[in-house]
Amino acid sequence: MSNLQQTLSIIKPDAVERNLVEEIKNEFKKDGFEIKNEKKIKLAKSDAEQFYKVHETKPFYKDLCEYLSSGPIIVMILEKDNAIAANRELMGATDPKNAKEGTIRKKYGISIDKNSVHGSDSIENAKIEIDFFFKS
Ligand code: UDP
Ligand code: MG
Repeated sequence: MSNLQQTLSIIKPDAVERNLVEEIKNEFKKDGFEIKNEKKIKLAKSDAEQFYKVHETKPFYKDLCEYLSSGPIIVMILEKDNAIAANRELMGATDPKNAKEGTIRKKYGISIDKNSVHGSDSIENAKIEIDFFFKS
């Protein structure tokens, strides 16, 4: 049975800075994702703090929010069968050192903080994150 889903994807500042946007978008397209909407934005630090609120208590929260708001990012709505899990699989492990061969983070990630992409981790968070960037 098909299970069409949408998930929120972000190409993070380290990848935008290195001109990897088209290359990374092609990774999604090759894997069968349709890019339903996309925009290039630069977040204010307060936006990043809201977006990553689930990590509020973590030791890396402050650096993470500073980093995500440090330069332009590309936010996209990706659609495909089982998009949420499929995107997590394609991205690879949070730390590029542990990411499998062929994953985006393995190919492009620099470090655990500069890991090139974000992807929603659940149906609930996909909805929240898509609304965060695209609700008018
Ligand atoms: N992060 C970090 N240090 C850590 C763990 C996470 O800088 O020890 C950053 C990393 O960029 C990651 C983001 O915080 O992508 C969100 O963490 P999460 O555990 O949700 O990982 P993800 O869902 O992005 O794989
Ligand atoms: Mg996460």
